Amino acid sequence: MPKKLTVIRDELKKYVKVDRKGKKIPSSQRSPADYPRNLKVKELELTAMLGVKTLTFKGVVKSEFPQERAKQKIDVRGKMVKAPLSYMVHIQFHNVDFQEEKDAEHEEAVKVGSKTVYFRRPRVGVNPLKLKCTCQDFRFNWEKELFDNKALIGSWRKYKRKTPPPPEGFPYANPFEYMGFCKHINSFLFHLRREELIRS
Ligand SMILES: [Zn+2]
Repeated sequence: MPKKLTVIRDELKKYVKVDRKGKKIPSSQRSPADYPRNLKVKELELTAMLGVKTLTFKGVVKSEFPQERAKQKIDVRGKMVKAPLSYMVHIQFHNVDFQEEKDAEHEEAVKVGSKTVYFRRPRVGVNPLKLKCTCQDFRFNWEKELFDNKALIGSWRKYKRKTPPPPEGFPYANPFEYMGFCKHINSFLFHLRREELIRS
């Protein structure tokens, strides 16, 4: 069963990084309270799967520092590539209530093939969800834990550590194996709330 956002957010709040000696470094930046809420969202798309009762929101979320990112080059297997200026985010709610008639409880419309159905706006404290973002923070800090908790869309992008374990090598990205999510997902959730497509 996927997890509720409130459960994932509570774990993210506990997130700490450890230094090479295993000492905790408080990382206030990582708390969802400090994440930006207004990163620009483009190309919002809704996909409903009635049989499994899921509703997926897809959006392209702009990088927080696009000017800096534009200058940055990322080395991928010896090839220099431009850092992305935006990221694709997916948020999939489960146990969503759909019906063919529009009423006070089911106001929002979504197309399924050639027909239109109406859904009860998902609540982050009620409807479990699965997440995905194409950014590096999401990949290296959160994908594995979300996958292990059935809260990741698809499979995690596996990687091999290139350095020995700490204290010789770099600290682990997520040493206490908490679930969490990135600032792009945070901004996307706020966007969906402002658009009144989901409820808190
Ligand atoms: Zn992200």
